[in-house]
Amino acid sequence: MHKTDFDAVVVGSGPNGLAAAITLQQAGLSVLVLEGKPEIGGGLRSAELTRPGFIHDTCSAIHPLAVNSPFFRTLPLGAFGLEYIEPPIAAAHPFDDGTAALLTRSVEETARWLGPDEKTYLNLFKPLIEQWPRIDFDVLGPLTFPKHPLDFAQFGLKALPPVTWLAKAFETPQAKGLLAGMAAHSIQPLSNFATSAIAVVLMTAAHVRGWPLPKGGSQQIARALAAYFTSLGGKIETNFYVSSLAQLPSSKAVLFDITPKQLLQIAGHRFSALYRWQLNRYRYGMGVFKVDWALDGPIPFTAESCRQAGTVHLGNTLEEIADSELRASKGQHPEKPYVLLAQQSLFDATRAPAGKHTAWAYCHIPNGSTVDMTKAIENQIERFAPGFRDRILARHTMNPAQMEAHNPNYIGGDINGGIIDIGQLFTRPALRWSPYRTSAKGLYICSSSTPPGGGVHGMCGHHAALRALKDVFTP
Ligand SMILES: Cc1cc2nc3c(=O)[nH]c(=O)nc-3n(C[C@H](O)[C@H](O)[C@H](O)COP(=O)(O)OP(=O)(O)OC[C@H]3O[C@@H](n4cnc5c(N)ncnc54)[C@H](O)[C@@H]3O)c2cc1C
Repeated sequence: MHKTDFDAVVVGSGPNGLAAAITLQQAGLSVLVLEGKPEIGGGLRSAELTRPGFIHDTCSAIHPLAVNSPFFRTLPLGAFGLEYIEPPIAAAHPFDDGTAALLTRSVEETARWLGPDEKTYLNLFKPLIEQWPRIDFDVLGPLTFPKHPLDFAQFGLKALPPVTWLAKAFETPQAKGLLAGMAAHSIQPLSNFATSAIAVVLMTAAHVRGWPLPKGGSQQIARALAAYFTSLGGKIETNFYVSSLAQLPSSKAVLFDITPKQLLQIAGHRFSALYRWQLNRYRYGMGVFKVDWALDGPIPFTAESCRQAGTVHLGNTLEEIADSELRASKGQHPEKPYVLLAQQSLFDATRAPAGKHTAWAYCHIPNGSTVDMTKAIENQIERFAPGFRDRILARHTMNPAQMEAHNPNYIGGDINGGIIDIGQLFTRPALRWSPYRTSAKGLYICSSSTPPGGGVHGMCGHHAALRALKDVFTP
């Protein structure tokens, strides 16, 4: 048989690239990971963005999907230095009247805070929590015949409607707002079908394994994955930006942790006309504008409970959040944007010098926008935490173009590798028997542009590697 330099090459070292590489290396293959940037990790990087001693998560911050990932859970990442910290409150959602809805590990506690909606909340989430271990692999994967069809169908009935429909089951603005804030992680208008899916998955994940953050920064997840991979014999090369197939060492399979636009540039000439047409039609979603702060003290939220939450969703009511997301999807810049905020240093002393703090936040804006949203984001924080501005020592901002320069996968600032609406939920990046196979033999796509989509779970990479193992490496 023809001798190759490696059995498989993985282009890109995001969570999906590393998950693909580990899956292949665990199968006894020789695997090389090529990363274009000086640091591995893609969306898993941390840096002193503002001042020395303040460690900020450049992209992802909070990791319910990583701890709930059926693949990452099987890896001995603790032995390779990864330590998760779980804040007492996973997420808080403050309102103008000074109250806050809270999501915690306990479904009963979360429900109790919702008063008249307690029973509805328990009826919605208790069955999901019980079913989750049987459906997690299928929910976080390509559309196939599920192993537990009844459980999966029940999940589907809750996940497929627009969240604006699901929210009708609840009476209180608190419960409706909490759901809306969760669903807005899908980065699309809340009246879209399947916006409930992300809310239901994130909230179930909170009740099953929490919303932790890694001690020392999100980069620690990438470092642990990479350390485990190299301990198995895998190789990683950084500062190796791939712009042509001709640059790659010989191998039997190449897995690309990149999005369709880049894949077309690198390997388009190898694809069928139909597959090229499909990739050209692939749609990207809204971009993000992100701010990181070095702070003189914790954020002085009016609602005391927000001070104990890893994540805080700032958008008030469902109506206000829906309006913000709709406007951004239509090319406008909301005056009161829905803001996702994390306060890692409250729970992880390694993130800031003693007595000082960090905060991380972003909002959704039109793809490719150059509008500076710093003031609008800070106004939203000030609204729920008067005095916040006085605590700012330094800030660092990133608009969509700067996000894309940091990571070429963020096309126009889209952090999900393409919009995850009903049209692209399971058929990303193209409608095919296996979404991970390209039309060229031995070339695969393994990024968040494949099912199940964005987030740090590695399941796109794991599923793509399983496909390549079956296609190329099984006699
Ligand atoms: C601001 C922000 C906040 C987020 N918050 C969260 C969060 O809290 N929790 C969560 O779960 N997820 C979050 N995410 C999403 C998460 O980071 C991504 O969904 C995830 O990183 C996608 O993983 P991936 O492996 O598909 O791609 P990426 O992580 O994007 O990695 C792709 C890698 O490929 C490299 N690459 C690209 N092109 C080439 C090339 N041609 N040659 C060589 N290398 C190349 C890139 O440099 C990069 O390292 C956030 C993202 C952002 C930007």
